[in-house]
Amino acid sequence: METAVTRELPQPELRATLSIEAASSRIWDVVVAGAGPAGALVAHGLAWRGVSVLLVDRAAYPRAKVCGSCLNGGAMAAMRAAGLGDLPRQFGATPLHELRLRAGGREASLKLPAGVSLSRRTLDAALIEAAVRVGVEFLPETEAILSPQKTDLRSVRLRQASRRSIARARAVVAADGLSGSFLREFADMRPVVSQYAPIGVGAVFDNSPEFYQPGAVFLSCAREGYVGAVRMEDGRLDVAAAIHPHEVRGRGRMAASVAAILSGNGLPCPDELPGAAFRGTPPLTRRRGYVAAEGLFVLGDVAGYIEPMTGEGISWAMQQAVMLVPLLYESLPRPSFEHAYLWQCKYERFVHDRRSVCLAAAWIRRNPRLAVAVVALLGRLPILAAPWVRAVNRPVAELQSEPRR
Ligand SMILES: Cc1cc2nc3c(=O)[nH]c(=O)nc-3n(C[C@H](O)[C@H](O)[C@H](O)COP(=O)(O)OP(=O)(O)OC[C@H]3O[C@@H](n4cnc5c(N)ncnc54)[C@H](O)[C@@H]3O)c2cc1C
Repeated sequence: METAVTRELPQPELRATLSIEAASSRIWDVVVAGAGPAGALVAHGLAWRGVSVLLVDRAAYPRAKVCGSCLNGGAMAAMRAAGLGDLPRQFGATPLHELRLRAGGREASLKLPAGVSLSRRTLDAALIEAAVRVGVEFLPETEAILSPQKTDLRSVRLRQASRRSIARARAVVAADGLSGSFLREFADMRPVVSQYAPIGVGAVFDNSPEFYQPGAVFLSCAREGYVGAVRMEDGRLDVAAAIHPHEVRGRGRMAASVAAILSGNGLPCPDELPGAAFRGTPPLTRRRGYVAAEGLFVLGDVAGYIEPMTGEGISWAMQQAVMLVPLLYESLPRPSFEHAYLWQCKYERFVHDRRSVCLAAAWIRRNPRLAVAVVALLGRLPILAAPWVRAVNRPVAELQSEPRR
């Protein structure tokens, strides 16, 4: 039995707040490339402190994104710390209370202490809208490319269809995600991509099996990858997967691989799945040697990526944004090498404290027998997963204090 989308919810409204020519007519404190959760939240935090910010994204908004659309405890804490704690509720986000994990036909049901599902189409647009409200200037459908530095100011080339201009800023933030091009002229900053890196694939379904009840995240694991399914705020089903690239090569293979992983664990597939237009990402697992230079700060997916299985990418992006804002604010008007060094250290500490949980989950998933044994054990004793669930949802210490406003 399939259920169809019925809920009409408020949608954020987004337009460019200035022209590409106007963007080049002044000197900005900060230009932020990429308006996903990392970029939008940095822009919001800086503008709220009175900093002039230009936020640029090459996509037209609202835009879709391959993502499981789950915000965990860390993401919620970051939004509260940014003064945006009410945003998910305002846009009808669905509270999440259960993770249903399947492998080898076994199931474990784990309680979630916090979190919501909210489509990326709505979340990202809502964050940008909040940033614009506190004074950020927003330039969508514009690619930003950082030029090698020649003066005290950073130069960013802006490209919008056939129009070109240059924006100058005291500092720039690279928040342009996995397939970002902002740093493409900096050969020494290229990321190292893991040979085991899966690729992300995803699609959203208007009609989907009733089985997928709101409030639960369904995660189906197999040797070749895993598929997550969650009902979003408007009733549509988000299906997002991370699969080894050789499994999905060739036309139609994405849908076939997703269907095989779902049905292999006894989960139903939406009727429209075989013909669905799945979107893909570049290989996921990667890291960069360094994430800062004088007047340049890198965060979110573009800084590095471990595995999305623990559903933490948005949370990491948002927490890093909230951590970067005071440091970057302090560095103005003249960010120095010392500020870059501070961000490098902060970023490394943040990842170091969290990577072992992600890597352990990914390693277990890649070993099918172990994965089945772990899920079977958790099916009987879900309490054993409590430390892992707590670790994934725990925000960085500096976000655990009272909200800003
Ligand atoms: C299959 C899958 C499932 C996932 N599920 C979850 C989940 O359930 N929960 C979770 O927390 N995380 C999840 N993630 C991870 C999450 O999607 C990312 O970690 C998150 O989007 C990172 O945010 P970001 O702001 O760094 O980058 P993005 O959200 O990718 O935003 C980057 C933006 O930069 C823009 N851009 C790129 N280049 C340029 C340029 N040169 N100039 C201007 N703009 C540019 C892009 O258009 C884009 O809008 C999942 C990922 C995958 C692949």
